Amino acid sequence: MQIKFRTQLIFAFLMVTALALAGTILLSARTADETVRSGADRTLRVAEQVFAQLMDDAGAQLRERVSLLSEDFGFKQAIATSERQTIISVLANHGARIDAEMMFLLAPDGSVLETTHTLDSTVSLESLIRTGETQLLFSERKVYQVAVSAVQAPDLIAWVGMGYSIDVELARQLKELALTDVTFIYASENTDPTIITTLPALTQRDIDALDATSAADTVLSRLNNDSMISHRFTLSSKADSQIDVILTNTMSTALAEWRPWERGLWVIGLASLLFSGFTGWLISRSATRPVTQLVQAAQAITGGNYEAPINVRSSNEFGFLADSMNAMGTAVREREQKILHQARYDAITQLPTRQYIAETLDARATSEPITKYATLLLAVNKFDQLTEAYGMNWGDELLRLLAQTLGQQVRATDMIARVGRDQFLIFCAESSSATAANLARQIDHALERPLVCSSIEVKIDVRMGIAASPEHGTALNDLLRRAAIALSRAGVGADGLIVYEDGQDLRLMRQLRVTQRLQRAIAHGGEGLELHYQPKLDISSGSVDQVEALLRWTDDELGKVFPDEFIPLAESSGDILPLSEWVLAEAASRAARWREENVSVKVGVNVSGRDFMRADFVSRTIKTVTTAGARPEDLVLEVTESATIDNIEQAIKHLSELREAGFILALDDFGTGFSSLSQLKHLPVHELKIDKSFVLNLSTDSDDPKIVRSTIELGHNLGLKVVAEGVEDDASLKMLADMGCDSIQGYLLARPLAQDDFTKWWRNHESERRDRQTSAEIVGMGNA
Ligand code: C2E
Ligand code: CA
Ligand code: CA
Repeated sequence: MQIKFRTQLIFAFLMVTALALAGTILLSARTADETVRSGADRTLRVAEQVFAQLMDDAGAQLRERVSLLSEDFGFKQAIATSERQTIISVLANHGARIDAEMMFLLAPDGSVLETTHTLDSTVSLESLIRTGETQLLFSERKVYQVAVSAVQAPDLIAWVGMGYSIDVELARQLKELALTDVTFIYASENTDPTIITTLPALTQRDIDALDATSAADTVLSRLNNDSMISHRFTLSSKADSQIDVILTNTMSTALAEWRPWERGLWVIGLASLLFSGFTGWLISRSATRPVTQLVQAAQAITGGNYEAPINVRSSNEFGFLADSMNAMGTAVREREQKILHQARYDAITQLPTRQYIAETLDARATSEPITKYATLLLAVNKFDQLTEAYGMNWGDELLRLLAQTLGQQVRATDMIARVGRDQFLIFCAESSSATAANLARQIDHALERPLVCSSIEVKIDVRMGIAASPEHGTALNDLLRRAAIALSRAGVGADGLIVYEDGQDLRLMRQLRVTQRLQRAIAHGGEGLELHYQPKLDISSGSVDQVEALLRWTDDELGKVFPDEFIPLAESSGDILPLSEWVLAEAASRAARWREENVSVKVGVNVSGRDFMRADFVSRTIKTVTTAGARPEDLVLEVTESATIDNIEQAIKHLSELREAGFILALDDFGTGFSSLSQLKHLPVHELKIDKSFVLNLSTDSDDPKIVRSTIELGHNLGLKVVAEGVEDDASLKMLADMGCDSIQGYLLARPLAQDDFTKWWRNHESERRDRQTSAEIVGMGNA
């Protein structure tokens, strides 16, 4: 649970006040109590003295009375008569006169002659006589103060004694004089303790339960409590009995005087509490109002609302905080806008981003959805080379120029976004793919004029891919993907514009899959890869002295995949390097084995253009071949004509080095690469392989024979051996032989064969050839 600051503040105020008040009241009560108690104590001490004085006075009075009686002439005479009846009446008369409750007469030896009460044995008459003091006596469950005086006439004729009972009446009188409650406790071994008290709190019943020896202590402790304070002292103590007095001062009266004060304190306390609560409420209200406002403002900021300013009119910290929060809100708003702008617009061209276009379309999707539109992706050809040459900044400038140029070509309703380093997206609302294609051609046309970028004049080539809704899908994402697929298929020049066709994305999926599986096969040491061998026949000798190694791949999941599919993929994914390495090592070790087995064929290996142009190609090739146990002269390297075109110097250098090392070199796919004759002249190769596209239809086509014938002548003129591949029928073979072609390769002779099949095939072929040769020689000899 969250307690509000305001509540906490009020609570704190109340707590502090309550604590202070409680302290004050407690302290006051304690002080009052202590004052009253010590006052009572003092009163008791005074009362003790007063009591002692009173007892003394009573004793003195008693002694005086008894001595007066003993000197009374009539009394003496009556005693002297020794007449019992007279003596009794005299005692009674005189006793009544002075209100004595107890009267007794003793013989001169101390023995009892007459008495009104039974005198128990504990009364020490002897000591009474001896000391002449008063004494306390206990008789018939009552206590008496007694005094004794000698009756002399003139000799000692008797002792007379009299006593007053110490009873509740006396206790009350004493109480009036001493101003304290009085309790007498008589305890003896023989009887139950007796109590005489002015206190209503003590009854005889309480006392009956008491133990004689500890009676006084028990009563004292009972009379010392919160509301009363008592002092005890012993009036008389004998071997077997004791009389104690307890003086008690009840404090209730004294405390009662304190009550109005206490009440006053409570009233003041309550009033202060109320006042402090109210003050707390007032202060907290004024203190928490800005805090509440600040809290609300902070919540608004958390919720992304920076608009409403916080109005706290205060010059203290709250005002400062509010100002700071306002400033913060503004700063956050500005920064947010900046970030939003950066997310929505490209920093270089200030064109919207793809995300922003998607957002805009999403926003419109509910109100006025666009269903018919085309997406055109445009990429700058060789942008990387341009920035490598002129620098990144120049590249940025070029992008800005290009953005401008594009902006001039599109309609007002079209949107242009920059979507990649060198890519732009043009979103054409209400357009079909045909309209977008028109726009594409228009852009191409506009770019025919060179751009002047930082005073450098460049001709920009672009490639474009188009996908349109609803033809190719409806979701923007799908269209962008398909436009990207189209773009990836777009080439240079005339092929620079591709409109997406259904199935292209399936092809792309297949390509990704093949690439993945091939990578796996290579990683597993060439799992599922195998070389097949296709013989080349030397026409004049009829012998098969060369063979071409062709890669075969059977994948567990994809089945048989042909090199025409996976080699280009490996080239673009960069996997061709390890793949070529595997092929070359395999072919070289096969060549070495055949050499050992007297299968005298040179093994042709296809060289990828990508590999061939690498700086370390020659050294790597030599190393792989020798490591496999073969010699360079065992191998024919088939380098395609197109691989040499891009960098003719590098090609010449590599070919020369390879030739130097001993390799046989063939220029593969000759006729498809558009190499110029002057270039061809400098390539240090041994053979030309006429591409099978010119050979396959040689016997039926009208143009192919002319091309093939002139190629053969050209090759011979340059001192090269000429091989024709793709020979499928006898007619073609005949034509080629007539044209002077040196070697042929094709299904007519044999399809590519697994290594063991090839070995068998070759042995068979060579033995038949030798047989034919032998019989021809025989025929020849016969002819001769
Ligand atoms: P290529 O170098 O032009 O290889 C000759 C292709 O023509 C082979 O196809 C072969 O089977 C086929 N061929 C041979 N005689 C005939 C014929 O009489 N009629 C027809 N229609 N075709 C014939 P394959 O094996 O499918 O290879 C295709 C291409 O794949 C090769 O063309 C080569 O460029 C590439 N390739 C194959 N193996 C490798 C390799 O190990 N490394 C590299 N880098 N490329 C390879
Ligand atoms: Ca080849
Ligand atoms: Ca070829």
